[in-house]
Amino acid sequence: MSLIVQKFGGSSVADAESIKRVAKRIVETRKAGNDVVVAVSAMGDTTDELLDLAAEVTPLPAPRELDMLLSSGERISMALLAMAIKSMGHDARSFTGSQAGMITDATHGAARIVDVTPVRLREALDEGAIVIVAGFQGFSRESRDITTLGRGGSDTTAVALAAALDADVCEIYTDVDGVYTSDPRVVKKARKLDRITSEEMLELAASGAKVLHIRAVEFARRHGVILHVRSSFNNSEGTIVYDPSRLPEGAAVEESVIAGVAVDLTEAKITVVGVPDVPGVAAKIFKIVANTNANVDMIVQNVSAASTGRTDISFTLPKSDGERALTALSNSQETVGFTSLQYDDQIGKLSLVGAAMRSATGVSARLFEALYNAGINIEMISTSEIRISVVTRADSVHAAARAVHTAFELDGDDDAVVHAGTGR
Ligand code: ADP
Ligand code: ASP
Ligand code: MG
Repeated sequence: MSLIVQKFGGSSVADAESIKRVAKRIVETRKAGNDVVVAVSAMGDTTDELLDLAAEVTPLPAPRELDMLLSSGERISMALLAMAIKSMGHDARSFTGSQAGMITDATHGAARIVDVTPVRLREALDEGAIVIVAGFQGFSRESRDITTLGRGGSDTTAVALAAALDADVCEIYTDVDGVYTSDPRVVKKARKLDRITSEEMLELAASGAKVLHIRAVEFARRHGVILHVRSSFNNSEGTIVYDPSRLPEGAAVEESVIAGVAVDLTEAKITVVGVPDVPGVAAKIFKIVANTNANVDMIVQNVSAASTGRTDISFTLPKSDGERALTALSNSQETVGFTSLQYDDQIGKLSLVGAAMRSATGVSARLFEALYNAGINIEMISTSEIRISVVTRADSVHAAARAVHTAFELDGDDDAVVHAGTGR
């Protein structure tokens, strides 16, 4: 008997009809002779709606209470899904994150899983029940409070369950047919990948491809969990995320140079203007920023103007960290000695990812030429071994993605299908 973990995202359980459809699918897997553990997201855009509601009550909700609020979304869907399955004559039991033994640290809104103790899940499985677990949430032993894992975190719940229960596969059901060469909502000609390496998937997820939560990919890689990203709206094979170093000998597959193009509109740029060009100033600036727990991404320092001995330093960070970093910097203007601060939240980031970039030549030249031909100005550039990212104006980053996708011959013959969801 196999153990299969299945995760259903919000758009797959958006209403009663969808919940019944998903229940049927779970029952089919059970009937095929498998043990089934399900991680489920909140219905549709529930999490966003709860966040909007909190913002109406206060601009700065207390993190503990926000986690209490947000974790309720997944409790609704888990209970409804269990009811639907029971009404079909199969035993099913729902569990909150803490009942499921999802133990995290105490960081509200971005908790890390530190342990999984699925005692009650095993008991339920042994009794022949289908297990439904609320995604995205855990419990901190330290603070004895409910935590959430960060947006998109139900993927990570599923992978952690798959690792802890030694599942045969972890299936991530979503509103597209798998992992594509780019977001199908942005690039119509995006092509579905049959497989992608976990290394490339990590870079894509880190660069804004929200089809998988980055921590889920990390977790799967560390624990050797095979991920199958697929649609809950049909039975097509999706995308296998695999670790080439774990493949049996002789099973190596030829890598294509480019796996995909990701777009990220969640970052902002801070420019520290008129920084004295002397050793130690960058250290000071980034220490101040680090103390706010802001997550700095790209950094660019301009050439110093010889006449003034001053330079500008720009960096990008998540918009949600922007205000904290700005306040901290502006409080230290005198000690650092810069002239002024600029904040720009109208930027977009495009990233080109591919493991074979390590050995391929001319990739950057081709990228920059594609952007030039599309009339798109590049404001910042950064690279890793297998990724090149550029910052553009926010309103041109989608056009940039389409141009780059075409230039690297990634376009498929047909338009990609998006089955549901609002893309929110
Ligand atoms: P779920 O609610 O099932 O967790 P998400 O909205 O989190 O679904 O993720 C699925 C969405 O990710 C897709 O609808 C698509 O718009 C977006 N996406 C971004 N990049 C990609 C990509 N490379 N391949 C597939 N989908 C992508
Ligand atoms: N409901 C949570 C969110 O919208 C978690 C998830 O869906 O993965 O971010
Ligand atoms: Mg998701």
